[in-house]
Amino acid sequence: MDATAGPTKRLFFEDVGILEFEARVVDRREWEGHPAVVLDRTAFYAESGGQPWDLGSLGGVRVLKVVEDDGVLLHVLERPLAADDVKGAVDGARRLDHMQQHSGQHVLSQAFLEVLNGETRSFHMGESSSTLEIGIAATSDDSLERVERRAAAVVFQDRPVKTYFVEPERIGEVPLRRPPKVEGTIRVVEIEDFDYSACGGTHVRRTGEIGLIKITRMEKIRGQLRFEFLCGGRALADYQRKHRIVRDLAARFNAADHDIAAAVDKWGSELKTARKALRAADEKAAALEARDLAAQARGPVISRVFTDRTPEAVRALALSLIRNGDFIVLLACRSEARSHIFLARSESLATDLRALVPVLGPIVQGKGGGSPGLVEIAGDRNADLEAALARAQEFLGR
Ligand SMILES: [Zn+2]
Repeated sequence: MDATAGPTKRLFFEDVGILEFEARVVDRREWEGHPAVVLDRTAFYAESGGQPWDLGSLGGVRVLKVVEDDGVLLHVLERPLAADDVKGAVDGARRLDHMQQHSGQHVLSQAFLEVLNGETRSFHMGESSSTLEIGIAATSDDSLERVERRAAAVVFQDRPVKTYFVEPERIGEVPLRRPPKVEGTIRVVEIEDFDYSACGGTHVRRTGEIGLIKITRMEKIRGQLRFEFLCGGRALADYQRKHRIVRDLAARFNAADHDIAAAVDKWGSELKTARKALRAADEKAAALEARDLAAQARGPVISRVFTDRTPEAVRALALSLIRNGDFIVLLACRSEARSHIFLARSESLATDLRALVPVLGPIVQGKGGGSPGLVEIAGDRNADLEAALARAQEFLGR
């Protein structure tokens, strides 16, 4: 490092409200192909402790990323910065969002500890949600709601959040929730009479700023539980989105919010009943049609290609037809993806229809099989089914 570079003064340690500042460029470097500068002072937070970096601009140039490289705070820029004295501006909306998520995490971690004796093992803040790993093997909705209520109470009480540095010899006097990860002087984030954490992140000044804290997902991982949670603006956006979904579903099912699940279940069982009735009607129709077709038949072979029927309906018709006389039935249809051929014969006939599989298979580019009296072949959707059935008749010598 340049001798003049020195450690960058971090303005967010003094006041997270500082979003605009003036600074001097003390070093110029490169980071992953982008120009980067070191400043004598900055309000930009670098990625650290599970919290992502701030965004904004320096001297009108967009800041892409802020990283700490071997103790040096690098502002990674979109393009080179010519000036030595620059004005910096931190994206305030992103800063507030990060403060809400990070302070919210401290509150939630302490609430997990108090309510479920669950220790925080790790924390990660993502672009859309954050995760917390808690050292408990199982829990329930009721328990999680108790944790949320405890966290909410601390928010509603609007407790002061203080940050300060503590010398190594006095660390023992601070009732930290977790032992510090770093040696030497540590920074403490204190939520009055509730939580003491060693942390370098940007935090709200009072818990009221956090807004709602809501757990949205839970999964088992490494024998413990990982929770996704949202705070403040993110929780509001999530509630708005979910409220719309619930309202729309309630309108579609003509039900009250709390009755939607029951309405969906009712719908499902009605659908099941309707499907059963439809199947019975299909079978009845097939039986009637089979009787007509059998009466009109001018020989022992009945052959037909259908364009508007399901394979199930055609199969049912074939089975019904062979019970209406001594017939060999060759029926075909197309479904969305495949073509289907059903070959069936009456019990009284001896023909082994399986002999037709190798004859028709190549014509429809498909495969099939079955018993001597009933064969099904599925082939390419665009196969020439008329040609296949004509070939089958020829093969049967009729
Ligand atoms: Zn923290």
